[in-house]
Amino acid sequence: MAAEFIDLSQTLDLNTQAYPGDPIFSCCPNLTIEHDGANIASISMSSHTGTHVDAPYHFVPGGKRLDDVPLSRFVGRAVVVDVSNKAAKEPIVWSDLQPYEERLRRCVSEDVSFIMLVRTDWSRYWGTDEYFEHPYLDREAAERVIATGVRTIGIGTLSPDATHLDPHAEADFAVHQVILGAGGIIAENLSNLGAIQDGDWIVNMVPLKIGGCDGSPVRAFAWRRTSGTR
Ligand SMILES: [Zn+2]
Repeated sequence: MAAEFIDLSQTLDLNTQAYPGDPIFSCCPNLTIEHDGANIASISMSSHTGTHVDAPYHFVPGGKRLDDVPLSRFVGRAVVVDVSNKAAKEPIVWSDLQPYEERLRRCVSEDVSFIMLVRTDWSRYWGTDEYFEHPYLDREAAERVIATGVRTIGIGTLSPDATHLDPHAEADFAVHQVILGAGGIIAENLSNLGAIQDGDWIVNMVPLKIGGCDGSPVRAFAWRRTSGTR
């Protein structure tokens, strides 16, 4: 079977941007072939490092934890909503998403497993200060999306809420509360969503099976069959 794959993940390395205040990523040689006969690294990071998913338990005290969430929440057809015209710190409001409402409702009613992906193209700023100044969803937009029945939402920014560099700034995490409060899943720091805007793509962003945890890095990718034989 011939297939085409698109990587939707950021590379984890020393330049990986953490959410302000979160632990930073490191990957250091622990054993080496030279001294020990094999290379084995020691990895340190937060549960929300790089391209990752949030489980409801991230913000909801009694919410589902990572290993309680069915795999079907992390795999599905891509529905890409294009809001790549948004500027720094600009809210994404319901009228931006409404053109996709019918398609989202149809996917829900047909019980197709699918994932709504918010394309901002902000991944082009990964590794720079601009990355923190991303557009974000407003509360009403999140509520209206949840009302369609959508339960898995991915975005190519640090967060679907506005990011504040000052850890003491007033932040309400309204979008996290709305989506995770409805038992939904959020994927953050996705990349390359413009490459799957059109066409019939299956998205996979399955987390590590970390018992009782609130989130996990993922290797997110999209794939589709191609007609040619190889
Ligand atoms: Zn997160």
